Amino acid sequence: MAPDRTPLIDGFQRRITYLRLSVTDRCDLRCQYCMPEKMQFLPRAEVLTLEELHRVALAFIARGVTKIRLTGGEPLVRRDMIDLVRALGRRIGNDDGQGHLDELTLTTNGTRLSEFADDLFAAGVRRVNVSLDTLDPVRFAELSRRDRLAQVLEGIAAAKAAGLAVKLNTVALKGVNGDEIAEIIAWAHGEGHEATLIEVMPLGEIDGERVDQYLPLTQVRAELERRWTLTEDSHRSGGPARYVRVAETGGRLGLITPLTGNFCDGCNRVRVTTTGQLYACLGGREQVDLRAAVRSADPDGALAAALTEAMTIKPHRHAFAIREKGEAPALARHMSVTGG
Ligand code: SAM
Ligand code: SF4
Repeated sequence: MAPDRTPLIDGFQRRITYLRLSVTDRCDLRCQYCMPEKMQFLPRAEVLTLEELHRVALAFIARGVTKIRLTGGEPLVRRDMIDLVRALGRRIGNDDGQGHLDELTLTTNGTRLSEFADDLFAAGVRRVNVSLDTLDPVRFAELSRRDRLAQVLEGIAAAKAAGLAVKLNTVALKGVNGDEIAEIIAWAHGEGHEATLIEVMPLGEIDGERVDQYLPLTQVRAELERRWTLTEDSHRSGGPARYVRVAETGGRLGLITPLTGNFCDGCNRVRVTTTGQLYACLGGREQVDLRAAVRSADPDGALAAALTEAMTIKPHRHAFAIREKGEAPALARHMSVTGG
């Protein structure tokens, strides 16, 4: 039977063309703002198999999704993950009536990039986002609870050498890297990478307190402007980032401000967790169960129906807020489960 090719359009007339697919909730780091040291990972039976992930991705591609970002957890710690990248890579630019991808990309902590950079490029990946919150090895070890900065920097260099464009993502953290942000941006731009700053979001229980970590980007920007000339840049990546140019480094800086500036009006994306739960919004609670669909007797029919249903649950905007000390997080789900 021919696949359902109906475009995915939500209740606010936004067309969904971008899927963030989490391939694992596991990780080789334990970033303090992301998960507790003793993170409880999911039992394997709950996690979609690579074949199921592939089938889910194809259902989205058939409905007009042209960009997929693989994330996690740490996508590169999943065994055989590169097979999924290769399979999806074959859909890039390949419109044979089943839908095609314009871009396949991933978000990684970089620890295993040296090993995979060439394979990723060969599979059709052209850009990767790498998370880098500090350039100081002692701080890195404290923040991620693992001593791996050298590996990450090697991974970033390997990605560049393989021909992958690298965008560095830095979460602004009060009392942790606030004093280092200009240095990270200058380093990134000097290496020819784009840099993006992100406000910490209230997702999941962690060992510390969110209010202690939260550093508004309005404040970071004011501090950067004391040192540098920032001018608005009209570039849009189709995501929530707004951009400025840094005259002194010649590079572009993205700012993602879920808390100080809502960005939902042009949202074109949905997220699927590693257990196959579709969230139409990172901040939303409602979900559609794609795992039940893909494990049903008629996986393709059930997936098509589930995607249509998902369009009815996408909220107009998220409503994040950082709670006071001792209060539960706004959302119990960790970023590593939903996929960052
Ligand atoms: N492990 C990969 C990595 O670190 O890039 C991919 C998954 S990680 C969950 C994706 C992104 O989410 C990273 O850039 C990370 O810094 C960010 N992140 C995790 N928890 C966050 C939080 N509570 N608020 C803001 N960003 C968060
Ligand atoms: Fe792992 Fe990424 Fe979360 Fe850090 S932010 S613990 S690297 S999933």
